[in-house]
Amino acid sequence: MGRRSAHAQGDRPGMSGEDGDGERMLKPATRLVQAGRRAEWTGMPGDRGGIVNPPVWRASTILYEDVAHLRGTHMTDQHKLYYGRRGTPTSWALAEAITQMEPEAAGTMLFPSGVAAIAGALLAVMRPGDELLMVDSAYGPTRALCDGLLREFGVVTRYYDPQIGAGIANLVSDKTRAIFLESPGSLTFEVQDIPAIVAVAKASGIVTLLDNTWATPLLLPGLGLGVDISIVACTKYIVGHSDVMMGSVSANAALWPRVQRRGHMLGQMASPDDCWLALRGLRTLAVRLKEQGASALKVAQWLEERPEVASVLHPALPSCPGHDAWTRDFRGASGLFAFELRGGGEAERAAFIDALGLFGIGYSWGGYESLALPVDPDGLRTATPWDANRGPLVRINVGLEDPADLIADMDGAFGAWRAAMNG
Ligand SMILES: *Cc1c(COP(=O)(O)O)cnc(C)c1O
Repeated sequence: MGRRSAHAQGDRPGMSGEDGDGERMLKPATRLVQAGRRAEWTGMPGDRGGIVNPPVWRASTILYEDVAHLRGTHMTDQHKLYYGRRGTPTSWALAEAITQMEPEAAGTMLFPSGVAAIAGALLAVMRPGDELLMVDSAYGPTRALCDGLLREFGVVTRYYDPQIGAGIANLVSDKTRAIFLESPGSLTFEVQDIPAIVAVAKASGIVTLLDNTWATPLLLPGLGLGVDISIVACTKYIVGHSDVMMGSVSANAALWPRVQRRGHMLGQMASPDDCWLALRGLRTLAVRLKEQGASALKVAQWLEERPEVASVLHPALPSCPGHDAWTRDFRGASGLFAFELRGGGEAERAAFIDALGLFGIGYSWGGYESLALPVDPDGLRTATPWDANRGPLVRINVGLEDPADLIADMDGAFGAWRAAMNG
């Protein structure tokens, strides 16, 4: 590449989705470094050099040279400054970088949170009178959106067993517009048979949407498995530092124009400062996921051997429902999983979590710092009720600490749990 690498361009060979004509597709980790750093977004026009990161371009008003120039610029022109809501090179660089994580993606729309991204994607696809098939292990606010706003707008949601696979065909009616997947579920971690569900959807002209927050496109290229729309709560691993809310929706060529149009119609955008931080996070995503995934598996395997633990819910463990699908479809595991305490209730679980010194107690995940959270799937499922007799669940986000320290911390906290159980 020589001097060209001093001003990386998003549109050069190897960065596009095309793999033909002997042009070698760059590996995912390399694309994460190169993507979105176009010369026109990192340097002055006509300049051969450039700064490394696309800077923060803040704007509402864009000034035009004259009226002819104003008239000649259209809000549908991609990558032309038009008005702040249509983005600036900072958000274009992030959107392009996320698009390039999935070779089959035609484009990416950014949203101010993961939930906004899910809403934007569903509102792009669903129409009044349609039916939506929603995985029963879905993220809570996704259910709230379906049972609230979508219902009021005439969309009927039916929940299905995350392990349904090809059996989803039995739930499809002539009103079914879309199937929504989330794999694994972020509380209970069942892995879905995505190719089997996609095959049924394609045979019936049904759109598939995937909440791919747990794996990110790096560990699960959803569109490559035939999914039409891939949604990521960037708040988690893309940002990676627990300081920005952001969501993205990437779509294949057939769905992209609709996703983009509807996102614009809803006035959705992400702030340039947040996009800049998300871009900074994205550059290290591959090493963070590798490290956090390996540490999380170590902690999970250690937990499996503990007498205080009834089960560990982690896709890379053979005991996890859908583990074979995980082995087949995923390129690795991230750092979020859960485990079930062997008995006790809310008070005993709280004794364990409160005794942890290295795990923060709080919502969200995907940051560099470890977290522990009490989670209760019972009230959140309708198609496949969670067994109320199971022990309380603790969800763990493993960060970038040394896993030996995390394990020692948990070892101590189990002492507090045992004391609470015996008290
Ligand atoms: C956190 C989360 C979301 C929502 O993201 P926000 O940025 O918090 O709105 C969506 N899906 C999953 C699986 C999540 O964990």
